[in-house]
Amino acid sequence: MVASPFGSTTRYDGSPRPASRFGGLHGGIDLTLDEGTPLLAIASGTIVSVGIGGQAEGNYVWLQHAPTDTGLRFWVYSKYQHLLEAPRHVVGAKVQVGHVVGLSGKTGTTGGHYGARGYPHLHLTTVAGRSGQYERQGSRIIAEAARIFDPVAMYVRGLNDLDDIDRLSDDRRTVPIPYLAEDGSIRPTGSLVIWPVSCKSR
Ligand SMILES: [Zn+2]
Repeated sequence: MVASPFGSTTRYDGSPRPASRFGGLHGGIDLTLDEGTPLLAIASGTIVSVGIGGQAEGNYVWLQHAPTDTGLRFWVYSKYQHLLEAPRHVVGAKVQVGHVVGLSGKTGTTGGHYGARGYPHLHLTTVAGRSGQYERQGSRIIAEAARIFDPVAMYVRGLNDLDDIDRLSDDRRTVPIPYLAEDGSIRPTGSLVIWPVSCKSR
């Protein structure tokens, strides 16, 4: 389901990423989605930035998640990109886990590598921070002691800090991912962190 994972040197179509951005490494995960797919808050939080980005960025929303929102020991800032429409959220508004933060689109992807048709997908970035302190710099969020990390690590329980990710034993590198089911319920019930798009239950 992840078309281009975190740290990947290639795009979903196998083409190499330009070395000028993040040393050619992917700074998030890409999910290939039909345009208009509802994108869900991966955890409860606060809208901290919205905007209309340019090429390679597209329309975006940044959320801030406190440790109590995620069960993680650090603060998380999540960025949803390439949204179909210009976000209308008010900065400072609260969102609940599973609520729609935007619709997937392809803004910022047309006219470049992907040509006139673009590439409809969600690019999701997660940044860990030491605190709720952050600065907005254009479309960036600069958190205290900020560190970009693989969004899939959000679903690993019991992490003390991001260095734990590197130390995970093999049996902990496969994680069940909670999700919003078609009936609107979160499975398993009570999960704080979910997948950014709804899934069919088996
Ligand atoms: Zn991406």
